[in-house]
Amino acid sequence: MRGLQGKGVLITGGSRGIGQATARRFLEEGARVFICGLEQDEVEHTIQTLSALGDIHGQVCDVSIEQQAQQLVEEAERQLDGIDILIDNAGIAWEEPFLETTSEHWDKIISVNLRGMFLIARETANRMVARGKGGAIVLMSSKNGLAGEVKYAHYNASKGAVIMLMKTMALELGPHGIRVNALCPGYILTPLAQSIDSPEFIAAYVNNIPLGRLGRPEDVASAYAFLASDDAAFMHGAELLIDGGQLAQ
Ligand code: NDP
Repeated sequence: MRGLQGKGVLITGGSRGIGQATARRFLEEGARVFICGLEQDEVEHTIQTLSALGDIHGQVCDVSIEQQAQQLVEEAERQLDGIDILIDNAGIAWEEPFLETTSEHWDKIISVNLRGMFLIARETANRMVARGKGGAIVLMSSKNGLAGEVKYAHYNASKGAVIMLMKTMALELGPHGIRVNALCPGYILTPLAQSIDSPEFIAAYVNNIPLGRLGRPEDVASAYAFLASDDAAFMHGAELLIDGGQLAQ
């Protein structure tokens, strides 16, 4: 991809799953990477595993806590000598029938997937504007931000809201040379997905996907890299669906 060499990239939720594959991809493209996750062990393990590929640092951070989000962005900017690209990826999910959804569970999902995404994006965008060199921000939405799925009311609501957050950011940040887009993946086989669904469910799910397979973290990492690169220089305010054709039905 054009324009990623030497760039400073902050990836939230970079210690596992899609975020970890994305950290790997950006390192392979010659970028410098700063990751965060919730668990110290996971963050350290990822840094250790990927450090042979290039310059990678990271720390523990709960993105939904304002002070931690501010401190993360401050430290990432210091380590990277400026953040050029934000991959706002951290998120959580679990299934729960709508009629049984508790307000505590609702608040938790919204707090990480929407408030956390907003906090990291606002802190990073402020620093990008102050630095005056533009940048690229990609927010993680989901296929479920575009179409409903049973037992995911809180998750779907959070991911739909991320798309409107992205569009509003695009309107306000475009004049500063900061491109903002969102990714909408379908079912990607990651620890998150495997923690929710049984192997039997996953096998049956594939029948809904015209390409006949689930997504891989690397598929999403490619899309993140594309949206952040100069190859997507005129993409702004857009949501990119990457679901093997599932929503085409
Ligand atoms: P994983 O559970 O595999 O990884 C989630 C990552 O986010 C981990 O690094 C985790 O850290 C981190 N994280 C979770 N909560 C917080 C928090 N409060 N603060 C900081 N970091 C946090 O998930 P996926 O890779 O599957 O998902 C990544 C993103 O992609 C999410 O936003 C998800 O909603 C979205 N997505 C996933 C799809 C899928 O099918 N897998 C489909 C569409 C979208 P730790 O490991 O330390 O807990």
